[in-house]
Amino acid sequence: MCKNRTCLLVLKVAVCVLLCACMIIQRSGTSFGEEGEAVEEPVKATYETAFFQKGWSREWMDNSMVTAPAGSYVTALRASLVNQPEGVTGTISYQVNLSGAGWLDWCEDMQEAGKAEGEMPLEAVRFRLTGQLATQYSIYYRVLQNGAWTEWVTDEAAAGVEGAGLRIDGIRIGIMPIDGTAPSEIPSGGIDPNRPMIALTFDDGPHGPVTTRILNSLEANGGRATFFMVGNRVPGNASVVSRMVSLGCEVGNHTYDHKYLTNLGDRAIRSSVGQTNQNIVNVSGALPVLMRPTGGYYNGASLSTLGSMGMSAIMWSLDTLDWKTRNADRTIDAVLNRVTDGDIVLMHDLYETTAVAAERIIPELTARGYQLVTVSELASYRGGVVPGGVYFSFGK
Ligand code: ZN
Repeated sequence: MCKNRTCLLVLKVAVCVLLCACMIIQRSGTSFGEEGEAVEEPVKATYETAFFQKGWSREWMDNSMVTAPAGSYVTALRASLVNQPEGVTGTISYQVNLSGAGWLDWCEDMQEAGKAEGEMPLEAVRFRLTGQLATQYSIYYRVLQNGAWTEWVTDEAAAGVEGAGLRIDGIRIGIMPIDGTAPSEIPSGGIDPNRPMIALTFDDGPHGPVTTRILNSLEANGGRATFFMVGNRVPGNASVVSRMVSLGCEVGNHTYDHKYLTNLGDRAIRSSVGQTNQNIVNVSGALPVLMRPTGGYYNGASLSTLGSMGMSAIMWSLDTLDWKTRNADRTIDAVLNRVTDGDIVLMHDLYETTAVAAERIIPELTARGYQLVTVSELASYRGGVVPGGVYFSFGK
């Protein structure tokens, strides 16, 4: 306890300094978390792209790597800001060069730049910040063109080559303080192309109690997986499917009622796969581009039908046999003893034993340094997929 005046004075000064510090922090727009600690909320870009014959992508956050599905390309984009500091004016403006039309007008606030429903690709893009924002931040952007990402550019410079018949296949946008530092080479979403990655896949669901436990574990560990769903199960599990998409998981197709592709003709496959895609779009807004052949059976005719629907067939490189053993320990051992970089792991989100296994496998693989990614993410770093193709793994 303080018993003299000097000590009291020191205490008063200390309290004053603390109060002043708090006022300064509040003025700078910093907010406070649940336990009172300061939480930085940096200004970020948010953006969506329209892909040829696929429609609009989901909303992507600052410095996400957005790439077109196989056989498609970017026909339009729209962008906006989040966490804009109070009282700071300005926004993101953007302009696209549409093949055959040239540079279109500047757009703002999620206005469509380009022609989402059209056939023509974007060839180049430009971005700028306006108002007071432009005095504090720079906007960086780059595009995927002719198989490679361009360098970051900023402040109305064109990203992409116009007038050379080259289309844009992907885009990244990031906002940074105006000190000249470009965004991280590693896109948000955290995938580092130089570290090992695994695609966990779950077939035959969704099944609320099991799928929810798997999603909880993925969310807790910052991982994602791919769910190849049976179409007739989707409407009854709508909230589970939309949660998959909001967590960045991939929605895939496993026929409408679990029939083998090799027992179906062209029309029946179109109907079964098409109805499943429609059910998934209806509840999640996301259109599947990958199909897991039921039972692993496919032939040239069924692949050709899938290809004409813009879809690829995804098999597996590590079969846990979880459906057969119904034994969590054996499923865990099957994965942890055999898994290698680029594997596609087959499991089924129908059994409680698989939920138990996933709750061990997901944190353990993460601790071993594996990135748990979707099949499309894995493919995008390891050569990609084409419609009608069939893939078993994506090792280096
Ligand atoms: Zn199945």
